[in-house]
Amino acid sequence: MKTPRLADFRRIVVKVGSSLLVDAAAGRVNETWLASLADDIARLHGEKRDILVVSSGAIALGRAVLKLPRGPLKLEDSQAAAAVGQIALARTWAEALGRHNISAGQILVTLGDTEERRRYLNARSTIAKLLEWRSVPVINENDTVATNEIRYGDNDRLAARVATMASADLLVLLSDVDGLYDAPPQDGASARLIPLVVRITPEIEAMAGASGSELSRGGMTTKIEAGKIATTGGIHMVIASGRIEHPLHAIAGKGRCTWFLTPANPVTARKKWIAGSLEPKGTLTIDAGAVAALRRGNSLLPVGVVRVEGGFARGDAVIVRGPDGHEIGRGLVAYDAEDAEKIRGKSSGDVMLVLGIGGRAEMVHRDDLVLGQA
Ligand code: GLU
Repeated sequence: MKTPRLADFRRIVVKVGSSLLVDAAAGRVNETWLASLADDIARLHGEKRDILVVSSGAIALGRAVLKLPRGPLKLEDSQAAAAVGQIALARTWAEALGRHNISAGQILVTLGDTEERRRYLNARSTIAKLLEWRSVPVINENDTVATNEIRYGDNDRLAARVATMASADLLVLLSDVDGLYDAPPQDGASARLIPLVVRITPEIEAMAGASGSELSRGGMTTKIEAGKIATTGGIHMVIASGRIEHPLHAIAGKGRCTWFLTPANPVTARKKWIAGSLEPKGTLTIDAGAVAALRRGNSLLPVGVVRVEGGFARGDAVIVRGPDGHEIGRGLVAYDAEDAEKIRGKSSGDVMLVLGIGGRAEMVHRDDLVLGQA
């Protein structure tokens, strides 16, 4: 199977680890390296690619600013350190991207924001808006409120969930290793880098275990976990070294790295999830004009909805039926049943009047809609 190229992708999530961004010994940001990464991001951005950054470093930077002693931190210490460090981290990214006239938008998420559908939709629409405005979302876990039970703890898996949430097609994990090895790299000559993983098999997982980095938070194990989330969500993933300047350019130039391929495309994977795994909580009956619009690939607007049934909440799956009651498809609804009832049949302008600002244009966004056979 062919190794992909960076230029093949339209929406890329770049995950940057703390150890790359923060020089722990000197207690500051690796400015030169960050500037080189920002150059790469700006180039892709200029080529009309959507870029999202998942950046770690809040705790590491907070430690540096607060001059905390070395060694492991208790949970409340790392939460408080992150509170200090996240400000510095956000400023760092805003400045690095700002030099290229790109605005950065900070998003802090917790596990619940990516796992619970209602909050998931909120985070997703903010990301979509930022990208539409050509900003670069800079995302981290909200470490200050994320306690052990409800936290990712590592940004590898967080980045993979963000990638699925943002319907990205590539996840880049920049790391202090340049890819997956078939044995621990410190074993020397015998370890070989695996350039391409077509499927994450138990053998591949065993190699991750063997790379001996479980002590660090974002070890190879969490990277393989991220690979599973990404590839089952229709997203390719690449692990590459961030120990060099212009790390994205190096991937484009066929530097050493490990590609994990997805068998599915993101839309198919997501739509399968909507059509197959979610229990519908209600029904929207729509008029003939809306049926035709959906078949042309458009979103379902409130104006086309004639009847609302069921007690669904925003983010729930609903069945969409045509005027004759025939099922047209299924989708994730953007309004609670109560609001949906208030705005059905209304034009987008009237939706604003009924619900005030904050209303969304679509009742079901086309990315969240799966049509059955015509
Ligand atoms: N969210 C943590 C931070 O910004 C990092 C998690 C990780 O290292 O993966 O400090």
